[in-house]
Amino acid sequence: MAQATKGKLNYRCPSCFMRDIDIDMFYDSHTEEYYCLRCSFRGKRGEVLKLNQQARYRYKALKLRVADFGEDNEPVSFKPHEGGAQ
Ligand SMILES: [Zn+2]
Repeated sequence: MAQATKGKLNYRCPSCFMRDIDIDMFYDSHTEEYYCLRCSFRGKRGEVLKLNQQARYRYKALKLRVADFGEDNEPVSFKPHEGGAQ
């Protein structure tokens, strides 16, 4: 752990990211695991990628805008974001 480095490609910590903290992890070549300095998360590359992919559910509507919130128990309707006017 003392000689751990950042990997060629840095991955963000999925555990911290779920708490709105964006922090890179370090790579331990002995165990072939990524680990976080801030929290206790550690995991193989595949696990890190899977958990980071799962965290994307929060941003499903990132490129959409709410067109109508609707009444109670009605679904919210979206429209695509058109970008800013020049
Ligand atoms: Zn973390």
